[in-house]
Amino acid sequence: MLSFLLLHADLTYYLILGIGMVLSLIASARVKSTFAKYSEVPSRSGYTGSQVAHAILQAHGIHDVTVEPVPGALTDHYDPTSKTLRLSEPVFHSNSVAALGVAAHEVGHAIQHATNYGALRFRSAWVPVAGIGSSLGIWLVVIGIAMAAGGGSLWLAYGGVLLFAATTVFTLVTLPVEFDASRRALATLQDSRVLDVDELDGARSVLNAAAWTYVAAAAASVMQLLYWVMQLLAVQSRRED
Ligand SMILES: [Zn+2]
Repeated sequence: MLSFLLLHADLTYYLILGIGMVLSLIASARVKSTFAKYSEVPSRSGYTGSQVAHAILQAHGIHDVTVEPVPGALTDHYDPTSKTLRLSEPVFHSNSVAALGVAAHEVGHAIQHATNYGALRFRSAWVPVAGIGSSLGIWLVVIGIAMAAGGGSLWLAYGGVLLFAATTVFTLVTLPVEFDASRRALATLQDSRVLDVDELDGARSVLNAAAWTYVAAAAASVMQLLYWVMQLLAVQSRRED
């Protein structure tokens, strides 16, 4: 049964996996190069990433979020469970246009958390479901479809596709969360005049490049899900013949 599936799942599947991988490689290469480019451009205001993060948090009346440096490049993130904003060392200490863009974006997540932004709440609640989906979903799909194709029940395949869909939902709901954090970041940097108009273009390029990595991940997940749905429908229609 499994060999049946491996023969049929198949060139199309490897093509889909390959396209997804290439998209995400291109997207992450673009983030690195755009970030490197605007890391060389110091902002005229001279503030560092950490100073700007503190200032935006204060301005929004958020006093219970800790800002700390974290090793590595592009490792910046906001941790809602400990209310900690971790900025990668190059962002934390730097006054570049790229650093201020990234710092303000991460503060955007802290503001989403403080204001109970719906998409972030849903995304956080969905983390455990997506975790099960990504570890178990793909195996249930493969085994379930192989069993169904061999004449067994279709239920396992349905369950697998549903679990896999849970991970796809996660990659999709990540998009509004990320777009919103970047939108807030650019608006704040502009309104507070931390960055001038020409500097904002640089920060926008960095944040847009970062957004494309999430778009690539979501596209890859949607393509895989469609593939499994089509496999399931194909097995089902063969059985109904
Ligand atoms: Zn983000």
